[in-house]
Amino acid sequence: MMKIKILTLFPAMFDCMHESIVGRAIKSGIIDFEAVDIRRYSRDKHFKCDDTPYGGGAGMVMTAQPIFDCINAIDPDHEYLRVYMSPKGERLSDGLCRELARNDNLLILCGHYEGVDQRVLDLCIDREISIGDYVLSGGELAAMVVADATARFVDGVLGCSDSHEDESFSDGLLEYPHYTRPPEFMGLKVPEVLLNGNHKEIEKFRRQKSEEITRARRPDLLGKKDGE
Ligand code: SAH
Repeated sequence: MMKIKILTLFPAMFDCMHESIVGRAIKSGIIDFEAVDIRRYSRDKHFKCDDTPYGGGAGMVMTAQPIFDCINAIDPDHEYLRVYMSPKGERLSDGLCRELARNDNLLILCGHYEGVDQRVLDLCIDREISIGDYVLSGGELAAMVVADATARFVDGVLGCSDSHEDESFSDGLLEYPHYTRPPEFMGLKVPEVLLNGNHKEIEKFRRQKSEEITRARRPDLLGKKDGE
């Protein structure tokens, strides 16, 4: 079982985690998922959680106090790996998701506005992770990406235990194309080899397609180690 706590000003955004594969894992108790409202921990009488930046400049900064108290209430003994979503963090990859999935407890802090007071990051956060070189309005979508992609590596989350072994990146290659019924659609036929039940031939065809598509689209992946 993996515990995932998300710290956010917008917990309702995480309702969609209760759908599909991750939703099923939550229902069956493999993932214990909670979106915690940082605002509840604000000691301000109006539950304010942001303020103007020292030194001037645009926008608002999330204040340290509510985040600090929230983290210490949830994780007083620092049993969670504490991650802050940030465009300045290390870039998320298949390998990093596998690594995160080895933690039993994962806490993800979502920033908003201009970001978070640096002091609470210095005091509480173990790791900063970015999902790519672009700026989102908040860490919520990024946290969902991390939670979803990480949950897939927790034992029992995917229906069939080996179903991520074939997937893109798992062996340093992009995945082969998929086909399902009908055998012909708008004049396009399913490749013959997939219909004849010869598993050796099918495996060879898929490997060849994987290599072809990786060479064409992501030559940078060739020659890399798994999940790198
Ligand atoms: N001023 C900051 C960006 C703030 S964006 C800067 O220029 O670096 C507001 C919040 O969205 C951030 O605090 C962070 O939690 C989240 N965020 C934005 N882009 C992200 C990305 N690429 N990956 C992960 N989190 C991101």
